[in-house]
Amino acid sequence: MNKNQTAKAILTPMCPEDAKTRNIKITVVGCGQVGMACVFSIVSQPICSELCIIDMNDKRALGEAMDLSGGSPFTRGFPRIVSSSDYCTSAGSTIVVVTAGARQKEGESRLSLIQRNVEIYKCIIPQLAKASPECIFVIVSNPCDILAYVTMKLTGFPSNRVIGSGCNLDSARFRHLIAQKLRVAPTSVNAWIIGENGDSSVAVWSGVNVSGVRLCDINPSIGTSEDPEKWNEIHEKVINSAYEIISLKGYSNWGIGFSVAHICSVIVSDAREIVPVSTYIKGCKHGVDKDVYLSLPVVLGSNGVLYIVKQALSQAEKKALQDCANNLYELQRDIKLDL
Ligand code: NAD
Repeated sequence: MNKNQTAKAILTPMCPEDAKTRNIKITVVGCGQVGMACVFSIVSQPICSELCIIDMNDKRALGEAMDLSGGSPFTRGFPRIVSSSDYCTSAGSTIVVVTAGARQKEGESRLSLIQRNVEIYKCIIPQLAKASPECIFVIVSNPCDILAYVTMKLTGFPSNRVIGSGCNLDSARFRHLIAQKLRVAPTSVNAWIIGENGDSSVAVWSGVNVSGVRLCDINPSIGTSEDPEKWNEIHEKVINSAYEIISLKGYSNWGIGFSVAHICSVIVSDAREIVPVSTYIKGCKHGVDKDVYLSLPVVLGSNGVLYIVKQALSQAEKKALQDCANNLYELQRDIKLDL
C-alpha cells in the first residue's frame, strides 16, 4: 500500500503540494534550559508554522522535539517541529533565536562569558546566516549585547535584523516589582530598564508611570539613595534576580523564555509594539557615539527594529547610559573575530 494512499482518499487536493506556502519558521539554537523555555513558550502560542531545534547534541534535540510534538493536540496552532545538529535544517527561517553557549556559574557575571561564547558564535553564526539569509536574529546567549554586536559583524546583516534579548526581561521584572508595591497589575505599569543587560543597566525612574501619573512627580527623590521609600531597591532586585535564581535553581529560564516568545510574536505579526531590546545604537541617541549594542525602547516589526524611541531621560540617566556604552566598548575591543 502506498504510504500516502489513506491521506489521498481523505484529502482532495485543491492546489499543488509544492505550491508556495506562507510558512513562518522559527529556529532555536541550543536546547538547554533557556532554549527549551523559549521553545515551550513559542509552541504554546500560535506564533509559527514550523519550529526547528538545533543543538550539537542531536539526540537531545530529537528527544525534545518528540516529547513536545506528542502534546500538539493540547495547544492552539502547534507548529511542525524538526530537530538536528546540522545547521542546514534551519534553512528558510524567519527568525533564528540563539541560546547556544556557556551559561553563568553561580556568582559569575554575564560579561565573564565573553570569550567562551564568542568562539561558539564564530562557528555557528555564519552557518545560520547562510541557511537563512533573510532571517532576523534574536540573540539570547550572554553577554547578549556583545554577542548581538558580534553577530552583526559576523553576518554583515543590517543592524535592524540583529536584535539582542537585552533588557526586555529586566523591564518585565521591573514592572512586576513596581506593580507589587503599588498593588496594581504589571501590565498597568509603564516602566523601562535600558542600557546593558546586566549589572550596569539603567532604570528610567524619570518615566515610570501608571495611567500617565509619573511617580517622580509625587516622589522627586524616587530611585535615588535619598528616597525614604527606597524605590531604588527594586532596581537592585532586578539586577540581582538572575544571580539569586541561579543560586537557588542553578540556571534561569522561564522568564527569558516568555520574553523571547513575546519578541518573536511581535516580529511575525508585524505588531510594531515598543519593546526594550538590545540594538545597535552608535550615534543614534543620548550622546552615545560608541560602536555598541544596548537596550533602548524600539518599534519592532517584521523587518526587526524599525525605529529607536527617543525617551526624555534625566541627565543622570543619560550619563549612566553613556557609562554602559563605554564599559561594553572597552570589553568588546579585545574580541578577535578574524573577519
Ligand atoms: P545550557 O548549558 O542548559 O544549554 C546550552 C546549550 O547550548 C546546550 O544544550 C549545548 O549542547 C548547546 N551548545 C553549546 N555549544 C553549541 C554549539 N556550538 N552548537 C550548538 N549547540 C551548542 O545553558 P542555558 O541555561 O540554556 O543558557 C544558555 C545561554 O543563555 C547562556 O549563555 C546563558 O547565560 C544565557 N541566558 C541569557 C539570558 C538573557 O536574559 N539574555 C537569560 C538566561 C540565560
